[in-house]
Amino acid sequence: MSHFDTLITNIGQLLTMEGNGPAKGEQMKTLPVLENAVIGLKDEKIAFIGTNEEAEGFRAAQVIDANGKLVTPGLVDPHTHLVFGGSREHELALKQQGVPYLEILKRGGGILSTVRATRAASEEELFAKAKFHLNRMLSYGVTTVEAKSGYGLDEETELKQLRVVQRLQQEHPMDLVSTFLGAHAIPLEYKDNPDEFLARMATLLHTIQKEELAEFVDIFCETGVFTVEQSRAFLQAAKFLGFAVKIHADEIDPLGGTELAVELGAVSGDHLVGASDVGIAQLAKSNTIAVLLPGTSFYLGKEKYARARDMIEAGVAVALATDFNPGSSPTENLQLIMSLAALKLNMTPEEIWHAVTVNAAYAINRGEEAGRIAIGRKADIVIWDAPNYAYIPYHYGVNHVHTVLKEGKAVVKKGGYDVNVSLS
Ligand SMILES: [Zn+2]
Repeated sequence: MSHFDTLITNIGQLLTMEGNGPAKGEQMKTLPVLENAVIGLKDEKIAFIGTNEEAEGFRAAQVIDANGKLVTPGLVDPHTHLVFGGSREHELALKQQGVPYLEILKRGGGILSTVRATRAASEEELFAKAKFHLNRMLSYGVTTVEAKSGYGLDEETELKQLRVVQRLQQEHPMDLVSTFLGAHAIPLEYKDNPDEFLARMATLLHTIQKEELAEFVDIFCETGVFTVEQSRAFLQAAKFLGFAVKIHADEIDPLGGTELAVELGAVSGDHLVGASDVGIAQLAKSNTIAVLLPGTSFYLGKEKYARARDMIEAGVAVALATDFNPGSSPTENLQLIMSLAALKLNMTPEEIWHAVTVNAAYAINRGEEAGRIAIGRKADIVIWDAPNYAYIPYHYGVNHVHTVLKEGKAVVKKGGYDVNVSLS
């Protein structure tokens, strides 16, 4: 007779996301479901997966009766700009007047106003604010999140942002993966000399490596920001030092950032709205994950969305993320992104679940730890107030979380409201 710390019984549908490696193309279309399932947890890890019948007679210190609900791995959000000062609600009105983002940027607004606020904020202030957003993500069922710097654009503030992430890694139940995005925009003081700015950011890489402040380096490759050539040189320097790389690629214009992501062996290429046919074909043959951010296209009022269907048909491994940031995607709600993926990217529920679990985990080099429910893995589990997996993208805009277990411990309980997040 087996004895567990926790047993979750009477699971209506259990998505284990079992498999090997990321789900590419066709593999995203099927989703094995275990019905009337039970999960047993021991020492913060998953120790048993089976059916009610198989678990008969099992004992546990705590039994959670899922009462027919959906149970899945904790969600993974592989692209966020978690740490920043201020907010930009006034820009919504500018957008409504039809002012394009690149124009707002030219006027010193947009990201540059967040840079001013982030430089002005103390590390303590940034920590408290980031923790607030992180708690909300956890309440929405996310248990692993990537967090980028990139609102300092100077040595002091970039390091300040990365130190906030490092402290959150130590103090918050969420698993965080840190990315240095010093090459996020060209600060006003380097408006006419982006190469000099990139050289300055590149000198920071040594400190970041020494203090283990980030494992990824990212760059914003876009018209009016950094060119493909500049991005290649910057990321090659990062790779040379041993960093894994990501690229904000082809968000607005098809510059060839998708092809560059493949060429550099980037772990992910992100946005990819303007990805070319050639870029998509190259992605399909590569290990680079396509991280799509439909919340950003939606919030910027764009007609054009990333070509998820073409990517999946070509054999690409697609992941989804919030792109949480104060300008182009102010939401922590990955469930909402799942609905947008259905409505705007024409992704099926099966594809969407792969994209927010296993593929999202591989997009941040956590494929062997997060995004799957498997024996021996840490027990990051969400119990949903939903009868089946198709229900989550369908019933949009609200929080369906019932309980979030992080390493076996209930950190969000019953109802999924932010106030229930416990950090003790
Ligand atoms: Zn981004």
